[in-house]
Amino acid sequence: MGERADVAVVGLGAIGSSAAWRLAARGRDVVGIDQHQPGHAWGGSHGRTRLFRVACLEHPGLTPIARRARELWRELEASSGEELLLETGAIMIGRPGSRIIEGTLAAAREHDLPVERLTADELERWLPGHARLEPGDIGLWDPEAGILRPEAAIVAAVDAARAAGARIRTGERVLAIEPDGDGVVVRLAAGDVRARRVVLAAGPWLGQLADVPLVPHRVVMTWFRARDGHDASIDRLPVFIRTAPGTGQWIWGHGALAGDLAKVGPEFDGPFEPDDPDAIDREVHAGETDGIAALVAATFPDLEPEPAESTTCTMAHTPDGQFLVGPTDASGRVVVAGGCSGHSFKHAAALGELAAQLAVDEAPFTDIGFLDPRRFAASRVA
Ligand SMILES: Cc1cc2nc3c(=O)[nH]c(=O)nc-3n(C[C@H](O)[C@H](O)[C@H](O)COP(=O)(O)OP(=O)(O)OC[C@H]3O[C@@H](n4cnc5c(N)ncnc54)[C@H](O)[C@@H]3O)c2cc1C
Repeated sequence: MGERADVAVVGLGAIGSSAAWRLAARGRDVVGIDQHQPGHAWGGSHGRTRLFRVACLEHPGLTPIARRARELWRELEASSGEELLLETGAIMIGRPGSRIIEGTLAAAREHDLPVERLTADELERWLPGHARLEPGDIGLWDPEAGILRPEAAIVAAVDAARAAGARIRTGERVLAIEPDGDGVVVRLAAGDVRARRVVLAAGPWLGQLADVPLVPHRVVMTWFRARDGHDASIDRLPVFIRTAPGTGQWIWGHGALAGDLAKVGPEFDGPFEPDDPDAIDREVHAGETDGIAALVAATFPDLEPEPAESTTCTMAHTPDGQFLVGPTDASGRVVVAGGCSGHSFKHAAALGELAAQLAVDEAPFTDIGFLDPRRFAASRVA
């Protein structure tokens, strides 16, 4: 006979763990399923930290999602007793007219955010940890930005879902999702789950279970030690996004939190070759970190340029770099929530809530037309 639920959530990573929690918090009968254990290192949500920003340079429509996410991260802090979001502030550095600056300003203007503009002189005084600003560079300080703890946040959301009544099945792989009368059947080796709706939040695996334009792609994360006698703490090197000197290449990161290393990474530019999320090469090979080491050497005088630590992670890119949140067709039976494109963790708690709202026919708390997964349909048919 198998299990029945009002809503099945497939994938309990950053977004799905929250979707299960927000559905259960609405009193819905929910089953959440994941092939791994919460907070694992096989998808797109491990690596100790993720940047949180409210002045979202990728789209002004993301700011209300970041704000709602912040409320939900705080609720999870209260329920778990863990510190999940550290509001440290962040500096965006670039030339007027650049995407970093104009995108941040657009979000700040539209939402009246307390973003502060710094001249090159002020930047050099404020941020001695950054070498060689480009001529004409300015800074935008987003005081509401900070750092999230991804693994602990996911564990907290799964625990909150369970506490609110969700049934959690881990270590089980969903083999397929098929229509079943008015609902869906979720195929599992240990017995199917029948549900009215499914929230599909399978991260880099999403394209295996739904027809969405998504490219899973292996990337390398890198951490750096302070040079002897230098200070590379978060106070001296706050959360940043900037272009590396003379390259036009974006880099992002933050100084060391207590007991940890500084983290710096490149903006992962497409086009991306698809990687199989089930066959990601987990080893970081000789030469793979040479590029980021050169950028660090040119940009951060307080850091040893050779990474002290590195590991792999898997991103899931959409053609326009925006997420996929919404039903896949007019029936509304399958609501997808994913397509991280490298910037969704900060929003994940609220993206889970949006998916939950769609799955129970509630109006979304903000306009998410720009995230509709069907926006690519016309170009894909042609
Ligand atoms: C290197 C890197 C840096 C990043 N930096 C930032 C940042 O600074 N700020 C930011 O906001 N975002 C950042 N991101 C993006 C963010 O971390 C990810 O977008 C987000 O964590 C992805 O969440 P998700 O829920 O879509 O996927 P995941 O968290 O990967 O979850 C998907 C889940 O689905 C499960 N699953 C998949 N298929 C099945 C199946 N068939 N059966 C059962 N379970 C299944 C998986 O096991 C997994 O648990 C970064 C991403 C990377 C890779």
